[in-house]
Amino acid sequence: MERANAWQKYTSKKDLKKVMDFGENYRQFLSKSKTERECVAFFEKKAKAAGYINIEDAIKEGKKLKAGDRVYAINKGKMMAIFNIGTESLEAGLNILGAHIDSPRMDLKQNPLYEDSDIAFFDTHYYGGIKKYQWVTIPLALHGVVVKKSGEVINVNIGEEESDPVFGISDLLIHLAADQMDKKGSKVVEGEDLNVIVGSIPGFDKDNKKEKDAVKNNVLKLLKEKYDFEEEDFISAEIEVVPAGAARDFGFDRSMILGYGHDDRVCAYPSFMALVDTREKLKKTACALLVDKEEIGSVGATGMQSKFFENTVAELFDLLGDYSELKLRRALTNSKVLSSDVSAGFDPNYASVFEKNNSAYLGRGLVFNKYTGSRGKSGSNDTSAEFVGEIRSIMDKDNVYWQTAELGKVDQGGGGTIAYIMGNYNMQVIDSGVPVLSMHAPCEVISKVDLYEAFLGYEAFIKYA
Ligand code: MN
Ligand code: MN
Repeated sequence: MERANAWQKYTSKKDLKKVMDFGENYRQFLSKSKTERECVAFFEKKAKAAGYINIEDAIKEGKKLKAGDRVYAINKGKMMAIFNIGTESLEAGLNILGAHIDSPRMDLKQNPLYEDSDIAFFDTHYYGGIKKYQWVTIPLALHGVVVKKSGEVINVNIGEEESDPVFGISDLLIHLAADQMDKKGSKVVEGEDLNVIVGSIPGFDKDNKKEKDAVKNNVLKLLKEKYDFEEEDFISAEIEVVPAGAARDFGFDRSMILGYGHDDRVCAYPSFMALVDTREKLKKTACALLVDKEEIGSVGATGMQSKFFENTVAELFDLLGDYSELKLRRALTNSKVLSSDVSAGFDPNYASVFEKNNSAYLGRGLVFNKYTGSRGKSGSNDTSAEFVGEIRSIMDKDNVYWQTAELGKVDQGGGGTIAYIMGNYNMQVIDSGVPVLSMHAPCEVISKVDLYEAFLGYEAFIKYA
């Protein structure tokens, strides 16, 4: 059975404009928000403007919450939960839209700066699954923070403005690449070769002699002048090396967006917007849960495996004047989740790794994956048929265009999401999301109509689930 192409819904100019405007707002968000911290900062600003209050302020002020209130909680600047409080007790469960806001990239090592042959470099350690050969010879930007011993946080963002310099990693010229071209893909460019070029002018002493490490020292001088930090401060820094430049409309018809970090901001953004846009009082409390560290196993304090979410729901109960440990357990068990993450869009250039009847197609709407995993569904949250049935009914109520898919052919590979971690609470969880071409490449591609159908699907879910 083939699912319909969602563009057929938007044949009138007025309807088409809604899809394109939503896509344009997303494109601008994506261009600016290239790290988990930047995503959280963007969402916090938007949330405040839309009447959400910080849960920490509510706790401090001893404020009581009630149905219709809008609250958010931030974990260490990298993870965020946003809530629309419903009219029913939290005990009845929450409707949760989960997505992640970290993306594959290269992180600076703790001792990153060195000089070799009159060129200064930053050494990196890549984050998440990347094809390393894709990250050379493209303009790169530096985003992140440097924390000084005093606790002062310096924000770094270099390479995005037209007037900024960019950075980059060299590749071997084709003329000398005879050996390299015979290597297998994983060895063409290796992890330790991802060294970012950051400068080449040496400093000179009073006798006009080049000192040892003169290029490196000149870079440090510039960093001190411009950002007021020193070499040792890199030890307590988080600087992410990401593709430079804005996301762009893709194709003559501008139907798609080419950009860095669609995985998984293309699910995080419509999840967040579904809550902001829903002004009516919901029965069940709705939550958009935007997590960090998914690309490296959802570990650590800001990943989905952290107790942050559970603790935040406990705080909500307290603010609603209704806390008990048993009620918290029931709230978690009774919750329903769309665990949203990008799907592999069917790519005709690489058709052999897909199974056509069970693939996600660009333009056919929001994707649902009953299961993910690899080698016999290993590591998958296999959603029960009953919950899949409920999802079908919810989507069709609002005429959302949706499709179902697996990640490629059986035994071709696979992947995981945060779904199984939500499942550990005994919640009902299904994987969903937006199809992407070139997943985990420096520039990924999504369709604007899939993004819009995801937004509509998320709204339907928090209304009817
Ligand atoms: Mn990913
Ligand atoms: Mn993902």
